[in-house]
Amino acid sequence: MPAITADTLTLPRINAPLGGHSRLVVSVTTAPSGHEGEGFPVRRAFAGVSREILDPFIHMDQMGEVNYAPYEPRGTDWHPHRGFETVTYILDGIFVHQDSHGGGGVIADGATQWMTAGGGILHIETPPEKLVISGGLFHGVQLWVNLPSHKKMISPAYQNLEADLVTLLSSPDGGALIRLIAGDLGEFHGPGSTHTPIVVSHVTLAAGARVELPWNPAFNALAYVLAGSGSVSDERRPIRLGQLAVYGSGDSISLQADDDSSLDVLLLGGQPIGEPIVAYGPFVMNTENEIRQAFDDYQQGRLGTVPVGGIRPYRGRLLD
Ligand code: MN
Repeated sequence: MPAITADTLTLPRINAPLGGHSRLVVSVTTAPSGHEGEGFPVRRAFAGVSREILDPFIHMDQMGEVNYAPYEPRGTDWHPHRGFETVTYILDGIFVHQDSHGGGGVIADGATQWMTAGGGILHIETPPEKLVISGGLFHGVQLWVNLPSHKKMISPAYQNLEADLVTLLSSPDGGALIRLIAGDLGEFHGPGSTHTPIVVSHVTLAAGARVELPWNPAFNALAYVLAGSGSVSDERRPIRLGQLAVYGSGDSISLQADDDSSLDVLLLGGQPIGEPIVAYGPFVMNTENEIRQAFDDYQQGRLGTVPVGGIRPYRGRLLD
């Protein structure tokens, strides 16, 4: 992850307007650790938090941070999705990606891949052969963003948001770097295009730094700690790696890093969609019938097919 330097002082400054209502925190939960099907270490960031509170977000995995030994890196094989979007943000390391709709490429070192599954897509995300052989640092996040019922069956789409496209902002004293990936923070706009109003941002605070950010009063507000430790809201509720803070209502939010640690937070929010959700495996729909239909369509090949010559997970010689 890029370190904070004095360069943050040259970035546009962002600060919540005075006299607003800073949000308090209603809960802090700790993500259980586990392993994704193919074996990479993940934290289930939203475990134990209700759908209503997360809406319009569904699910989030923190992958790593892990320093892989040679032949340890893992990804997923080809699999389907319908009814939502997957947002993959790679802080360190490399994933290669391909989908059945013609999308694909390399996601590395601060890049975000925003895939709209819509009515159906197959995709694969896997470390490249070179990284499998060498091992090395890997750290990423995959976030599932719901689509409203009238958009669940739209055509699939793909946004490749390279690290240098992200809107960079700083707190007034330069102690916090804000990478705005999608949505609006105050007067600033992130590059990602979204189907409902949401904010996806990554905030890095130097040890001892504090930031107060404007926040749309109609949005929920979720702060997930990717690294380090600090505290949230004016009550200074302690928060550390793997914990999710849910804020209450108000028009700004605050974050502080501990004096002896930096703090990296994925800061999310959005306008709740407010519809029934039935999520099963790789599908997020409104009814059980729609889930059954999705499985049926997948089995009939109606969600797409693996392209001829499509990439496969590289397993290396140890697993041949
Ligand atoms: Mn997937």
